[in-house]
Amino acid sequence: MVQQMASQGRTELVEGLMAGFPQVPREAVIKEDLLRGGMAFDESALSGNEDGDVKPKSYFIFSFDHRTLPELGAAALNRPPEEIVLTGGPYELRRTVVSVRVNPASPYLVRAGEDGALGLYLDGVRIADVGLPPMPDYYRHTLSNGKSVMEVAPTIQWGYLVYLTVFRVCQYFGAKEECQYCDINHNWRQHKAAGRPYTGVKPVEEVLEALEIIDRHDTARTSQAYTLTGGAITSHIGGRDEADFYGQYAKAIEERFPGRWIGKVVAQALPKDDVQRFHDYGVRIYHPNFEVWDRRLFELYCPGKERYVGREEWHRRILDSTEVFGARNVIPNFVAGVEMAEPYGFSSVAEAIGSTGEGLRFFMSHGVVPRFTTWCPEPTTPLGKANPHGAPLEYHIRLLETYRATLEDFGLASPPGYGPPGPGRAVFSVSSFMDSLPAAEPEQEPVAP
Ligand code: SF4
Repeated sequence: MVQQMASQGRTELVEGLMAGFPQVPREAVIKEDLLRGGMAFDESALSGNEDGDVKPKSYFIFSFDHRTLPELGAAALNRPPEEIVLTGGPYELRRTVVSVRVNPASPYLVRAGEDGALGLYLDGVRIADVGLPPMPDYYRHTLSNGKSVMEVAPTIQWGYLVYLTVFRVCQYFGAKEECQYCDINHNWRQHKAAGRPYTGVKPVEEVLEALEIIDRHDTARTSQAYTLTGGAITSHIGGRDEADFYGQYAKAIEERFPGRWIGKVVAQALPKDDVQRFHDYGVRIYHPNFEVWDRRLFELYCPGKERYVGREEWHRRILDSTEVFGARNVIPNFVAGVEMAEPYGFSSVAEAIGSTGEGLRFFMSHGVVPRFTTWCPEPTTPLGKANPHGAPLEYHIRLLETYRATLEDFGLASPPGYGPPGPGRAVFSVSSFMDSLPAAEPEQEPVAP
């Protein structure tokens, strides 16, 4: 099945899956294909960097590109937009926000048509109108030390989420520790090499100053949550362990802007006492990402996590943390698609979905709702090198179907802190799980444990 699809044209593949999985929104089929394989940009669709009218791609943690910066051509000089929004076209797409992953070889191209309006073209055919995110007012201001808000506190998900990668590298270092799909350390190196501003450890005061600017200019209150994240800390930074390092930002933010944003942290699965410190500091949603469910693949793909914590202990800590945060507010991520990466991954979509479905059932049976990002096979990672085309699109579509069915089986709702669910309404941009759930009023506020 997989090989048969690889030999099909892309339009045929997309339309075949739309027809075969009518319960999955068509928007999600296009979005998943763009996320797993990237999109090309004509120069007419690039941003004017920080001086233009379009919000540029901030490279908020990983590169999320299919080529290294030096290989991106014009897109390396003039940044692409952070996200695009798709509407209309022959598939009558409802409003769909997609994170930008650049791939000059993609059959999807964003360019201006003869009428000057931007469109998304697949195999040369215009399939959607493209909207670009306007430059937010807060990006037009700089901190007192001259740093840009985009560098210190970029926003994604159409402005909903302030993404605070406060530690730009990971202490899981080298082939024996780094997650095999992760380019955080390479992304740091490539931005440094290109002479771009890229702060390794963001001082708390800088983060507060950037948030002050966002708060002042975001008068529509579009930004509603912040994520504190970065690499794993296996020892200390500035004398602080992981809970105290990331927690100090939450504490400072909550003291300066009480209740202004929903505070989230992405960190290792830590012992309960450390997790309690996160909560005490003011974090309300905890993301101890489990990455991939299958035992063998976890050991192979996440050698640092296996070495420092171990899979069973990681899962046990996820469940333990529900006693601190409440099950609804523990939202572990997985990287959808790596289960099918060669040479170790599953070779059939059914096996991959069977494994990941087992993981979903495990967590959801405890009231924990995982979420996922669609794997982008970045070229400097071991898995990206071996699998430049990522996972089959059919896998991603069946995962959306399985995710929704499992959520419904356990009577659970979409996780809090992700904006509204439903096609035409979702803003979560790095997978279409929110686009694929039924429309409902978002549960914006984390529920008290
Ligand atoms: S823990 Fe793994 S995925 Fe997270 S930053 Fe480190 S290497 Fe990357």
